[in-house]
Amino acid sequence: MSKKDIRALTKDQLRDFFVSQGDKAFRGNQVYEWLWSKSAHKFEDMTNISKKTREILEENFVINHIEVDNMQRSSDGTVKNAVKLHDGLIVESVLIPTESRTTACVSSQVGCSLDCEFCATARLKRMRNLNADEIFDQVSAINQESLLYYNHKLSNIVYMGMGEPLMNYNNVIKSIEKITSEEGLGMSPKRITVSTSGLPKMIKKLADDEVKFNLAVSLHSAIEETRNKIMPFSKNFPLTDLRESLEYWYNKTNSRVTYEYVIWKDINDKQEDINALVKFCSYIPCKVNLIEYNPIDDGEYQQASSKATDAYMHTLEKNGIVVNVRRSRGKDIDAACGQLANKS
Ligand code: SAH
Repeated sequence: MSKKDIRALTKDQLRDFFVSQGDKAFRGNQVYEWLWSKSAHKFEDMTNISKKTREILEENFVINHIEVDNMQRSSDGTVKNAVKLHDGLIVESVLIPTESRTTACVSSQVGCSLDCEFCATARLKRMRNLNADEIFDQVSAINQESLLYYNHKLSNIVYMGMGEPLMNYNNVIKSIEKITSEEGLGMSPKRITVSTSGLPKMIKKLADDEVKFNLAVSLHSAIEETRNKIMPFSKNFPLTDLRESLEYWYNKTNSRVTYEYVIWKDINDKQEDINALVKFCSYIPCKVNLIEYNPIDDGEYQQASSKATDAYMHTLEKNGIVVNVRRSRGKDIDAACGQLANKS
């Protein structure tokens, strides 16, 4: 008989298991706490559980905890974990410290099935989705590192590591439930952002599910032809559909969206690109994060001139749109946006 992944069980199922063993349901709560808020890697770590009970657990279940296989620290304080999953596959997650906060950037899939030309992860084929507990474990590991190196708890989480979160919908939602629950990390959903390449149907599903976390959309161009070239999968998802799904999102959640946007030389650095973005920003309340490009290849994609960035800033601000420039962090250890590709 193969043993079950104990963390696939809900608290009620765990309570039922103990009752079926002739034990008290309450034992389920204790074990649940060990598994989630105390992040136990082994049954033998559960010190207030009797030896006999731990043996029963050992006979029936496994804990598929991730292991941090390799940790690198950047000169700017960014930490990158290469995380080994129970089947030997590797994903990466990143701790990004600033003066006011520490942010965890976590992966949702091993590799990615999308084909954004400028992203290193897109070059790895998608191997599998992560389970909710594997996502949770990445956050928990980074929370511990944050305490160790920066003396305070993790303050924010972004689902911007490897993979497309909305193509692993159920596990992403479950992981956030765990992160925000008292038995997990008790974090506010307002401190969590899920980033999507822009899948209209799934954005609508998020709205229908009335999620409380923030949504970011990797827009990169508001001109159909350009977007289809740099993010070929988006041929199946016209900008009108994306727009409609975002309006749907806003009407249901009242939560403004962040558009992530890289400006590349000769790709989207002209006034017409800026005008298209301004127009797209008029549909629902939003803000724009201009992300610095992190080169991943031989130079087909190059960061646009600072003049182009200034032109974007100027026009967006003139139109009353909130815009931030996001400088890269952790570049020296390949930990910046779009660089996660298990190189080490
Ligand atoms: N699949 C999701 C989340 C992962 S990517 C998404 O597409 O949103 C996280 C962010 O990094 C996205 O905005 C993505 O477009 C951006 N990105 C990818 N490659 C990049 C690179 N080389 N330089 C800068 N940003 C990049």
